[in-house]
Amino acid sequence: MTVPPDGDAHVEPLLGAYVLDALPAEEAGAVAAHLRGCDSCTAAYLDVADASSLLALLTEADLAEGLGQDEPPGPA
Ligand SMILES: [Zn+2]
Repeated sequence: MTVPPDGDAHVEPLLGAYVLDALPAEEAGAVAAHLRGCDSCTAAYLDVADASSLLALLTEADLAEGLGQDEPPGPA
């Protein structure tokens, strides 16, 4: 088991915001530092980053199409 460099708690709850670049710089730095020393959080980060990059590839049209599958086609 890997010990986090500063003994801090794991950063998994912050990874979503970290991937979206929504954390304050200080917190993002702490997350980055933790990831360098924690294999399990790095694995979780890669999962989140992968999902995030896949979402970024979707266009609004793709999302609308996916969401509208059960809707009747087009407005009257
Ligand atoms: Zn961790």
